[in-house]
Amino acid sequence: MTVRRLDSETVERIAAGEVVTRPASVVKELVENSLDAGAGSVTVEVDGDGTERLKVADDGHGMSEADAELAVDHHTTSKLSGSDDIERVSTLGFRGEALPSVAAVATLDVTTNDGGPRGTRVLVEDGETTTSPAGRATGTTVEVRELFHNRPARRKSLSNTEFGRISDVVSRYALVRPDVRFRLRHDGRDVFSTPGSGSYTDAVLGVYDRTVAGQSTTFDHEAAVEIDGDEHSLTVEGLLVYPSVTRSRRDHVHAAVNGRVVGNAGLKRAVVSGYGTLLPSGRDPIAVVSVSLSPALVDANVHPSKDEVAFADGDAVESAVEEAVHEALTTADLRQSGEVAMDLETTLERVDGDSLFDEVTVIGQFRELYLLCEADDDLLVVDQHAAHERINYERLRAALADSPVDSALVDPAETVSLSPAEAAVAADERETLARLGFEFSTFGGGTYRVTGLPAPLGRVADVSAFRDAVDALRAGDDPEDARDELLKDLACHPSLKAGDTLDGETAADLLGRLGECERPFACPHGRPTVLSIDEETFATGFGRGGTRLG
Ligand code: ADP
Ligand code: MG
Repeated sequence: MTVRRLDSETVERIAAGEVVTRPASVVKELVENSLDAGAGSVTVEVDGDGTERLKVADDGHGMSEADAELAVDHHTTSKLSGSDDIERVSTLGFRGEALPSVAAVATLDVTTNDGGPRGTRVLVEDGETTTSPAGRATGTTVEVRELFHNRPARRKSLSNTEFGRISDVVSRYALVRPDVRFRLRHDGRDVFSTPGSGSYTDAVLGVYDRTVAGQSTTFDHEAAVEIDGDEHSLTVEGLLVYPSVTRSRRDHVHAAVNGRVVGNAGLKRAVVSGYGTLLPSGRDPIAVVSVSLSPALVDANVHPSKDEVAFADGDAVESAVEEAVHEALTTADLRQSGEVAMDLETTLERVDGDSLFDEVTVIGQFRELYLLCEADDDLLVVDQHAAHERINYERLRAALADSPVDSALVDPAETVSLSPAEAAVAADERETLARLGFEFSTFGGGTYRVTGLPAPLGRVADVSAFRDAVDALRAGDDPEDARDELLKDLACHPSLKAGDTLDGETAADLLGRLGECERPFACPHGRPTVLSIDEETFATGFGRGGTRLG
């Protein structure tokens, strides 16, 4: 198909909005173009934060000279023929806006060859387009230089984690398109690569590491969904990492619809629901889940940067995803084993002050999960795990208010593999991480030696806290928020787990200490710690018509 100008009717139907907001959005558009061109190999090279220079090269079908010249104009595309096509696009691009939008804020240098004896170079610099012959094998290279040179405010607003975002974009496509060979280079060094073998496990090995890839299962599920009275087939495939390896954030649930990486929260939620109770509370899985269905049931034109799609029937798609994940996981025994040993004594030491629960008596424990307590006319049910998290969180916060966190030596050092995006944050935030008690050095190739772990109040964090802290710093825009997230996650690690029997004294300490907290009624992640059942409920249930017992 050749590049054509879209008619004005189609242009009006296109979800408008700024496409190029940061280096990572440029990379996303260029990678999507490479995939649309049927590339079997995509190489992304980035200098610094991506504003100086970034380059995407592919071995796709390339462009003729005439197409290349037209492609850098507004609303020119080879991907739509009639205006109805927009309702059922099967390509990633369709608006013809990416290349001209990049050219408006940068120098755009396109070299391409559609298989002829020689290729074409189209250079757009300061609004001037020049075309010349160029040597190149079949495929396309797009180089973008001096991004946002004419948008100083935009350039200033970029954070020091831009490369992390770029690496995220490339990682996600590498994961959902294991049939394509991806390579990411930063400042002349290889960051990661995938072999393009078609195996999800190989792609995960390239993007993550051996631990993650080694504890996973691939799956392929077919479902029939009924939408508007018609039956449609849908496939869900990908890879699920066993719940023995988890993350503190949902960023590691990678979802795609018809080959497009999407952020749809509902889809990610469906994946997490599919794991169900296998996941420890407050933890999220690592998973790659790719959904394919008729393009007529998907609207990709709902979001300016196409980060989300709309479904004709989102519920049906989500249930199919949940079912696929659940089914794939029930075949294996995935229960987490070997929780961290706990030192309850220190954490439950009372600080001076009155406890809200001084007048409350613990009368028992139910299923090694809940404390049953008598409080005047009420029966209180305390989730012991959530309560302990709340206590730890407030202790950590108080301890860290005015000093750096103590660090405990880890000997022998533990090694941790970080994804490229995580590694970029670890490097940028070394000082913050040190203040939080993490000491580490790099081995190269994404492997880190962790030599010191936070040991607030004498409790050494689990080494997985390192990755969680990096993730928290990566997600939190405000460093204070990131720190708070870290504390919440740290508070969670050494806490009481379901299935811990508490003796009477420890149970009373836990309750007393909870009552000293500033916010005793919710765990740091916002779930309730205490439920209260009043006597009336029993009276009604036992048919005593509201009269007092006794
Ligand atoms: P869209 O992807 O929405 O069509 P773009 O501005 O991203 O719009 O690209 C315009 C056109 O340029 C595309 O429709 C395609 O024909 C051509 N093109 C862009 N990048 C490539 C590439 N890497 N390989 C082949 N053709 C490309
Ligand atoms: Mg495009």
